[in-house]
Amino acid sequence: MSVEIPAFYRIGVGAIGVVLIAIAGYSARNTQIAVSDGESDALESASGGVIEAMRPLMGSHFSVRVWATPGREPAAAETINQVLDGVAELEEQISGWKPNSDTARVNASAGGVAVPVGTELRDLLAISERWARSTDGAFDVTAGPLTDLWRAARSHDVLPSDEAVQGVLERIGYEKIELHGDSVRLRVPGMKLDFGSIGKGFAADRAAMLLRGKGFSDFIVDAGGDLVVSGRRGDAHWSLGIRHPRSPRLLATARFTDCAIATSGDYEQYLVADGNRYSHIIDPRTGWPARSVSSVVVIARTGADADALATGLFVLGPEAGLELVEKMSSVEALFTLQGGGVRHSAGLSLQGDLLELRK
Ligand code: ADP
Ligand code: MG
Repeated sequence: MSVEIPAFYRIGVGAIGVVLIAIAGYSARNTQIAVSDGESDALESASGGVIEAMRPLMGSHFSVRVWATPGREPAAAETINQVLDGVAELEEQISGWKPNSDTARVNASAGGVAVPVGTELRDLLAISERWARSTDGAFDVTAGPLTDLWRAARSHDVLPSDEAVQGVLERIGYEKIELHGDSVRLRVPGMKLDFGSIGKGFAADRAAMLLRGKGFSDFIVDAGGDLVVSGRRGDAHWSLGIRHPRSPRLLATARFTDCAIATSGDYEQYLVADGNRYSHIIDPRTGWPARSVSSVVVIARTGADADALATGLFVLGPEAGLELVEKMSSVEALFTLQGGGVRHSAGLSLQGDLLELRK
């Protein structure tokens, strides 16, 4: 079975997910934002309320929820619109799918001349390089040619040959990205940047920055299930539900704030061959899909860090992954293993279905 979900269709899938999980009012692919119960709704009318909007952006649905005190609702609504416009602009600059983006121009020039790019792409490359180094190349935004090879494999329902995989590996490697002042060059012809693993988190950070700049500090930015959470929902916590990779029930509920949460999982896009499940996350060092876990949830300071690390840890697996996480302050992770078991970093506690940060 091949499950290739075109970007425009994901919205529908997310909406169905919400019905299955029976959380009304809001949807996200990986992390669900639970609606409050009747009690806190009553409370909400006196002290303020939630203003929200959603737009299809970055191949997913991008939502912003802001807690607004009475009288600030119109400003919140206007700001949310500006934020979503900002994300659309960012997408035009960094998405490889947009033909005039900096990324598409850099990719088209691989092996040729360096291409002048804007600050957004340079920032994104700097963060990407940092995570590529600290994950030993498990996270690598030059995985583009492998991503393409495996996307074709999923759509034809056949595994690629070893030769095909080996051939592509020559074009992979973050150390082959050259920065010349404001310009970027990919050293080898056929190299391709792919920000599928970090772009949404990065955009969520930009959105959060814009919201704070306009004086809003209580919000959730939801970039297709990768969240940046800030402040509170009036007197209550923002309540989050983390989707289970293999069942319609939630894996956990959480009340994190002032952090970013991202998930990488093998449940939306995968290929099954010989009884094995091949996910859309590829180990750039071998060229084969990572298979040791079924999902990774990462809590970190920024959306870009959480998003990149969720992908990187998915490749590293629970042993090497947790070893890395324990070395870093302000990063926590939870792995769901292929067999269904769960492992998490020491800074998290999972009691029943409640996931919390240890004090
Ligand atoms: P999601 O599909 O939920 O956004 P991720 O954030 O993990 O999940 O991103 C997965 C995408 O990242 C893939 O579709 C592909 O475009 C890209 N990718 C796959 N493997 C890697 C990797 N090892 N390093 C960086 N990017 C990758
Ligand atoms: Mg990611």
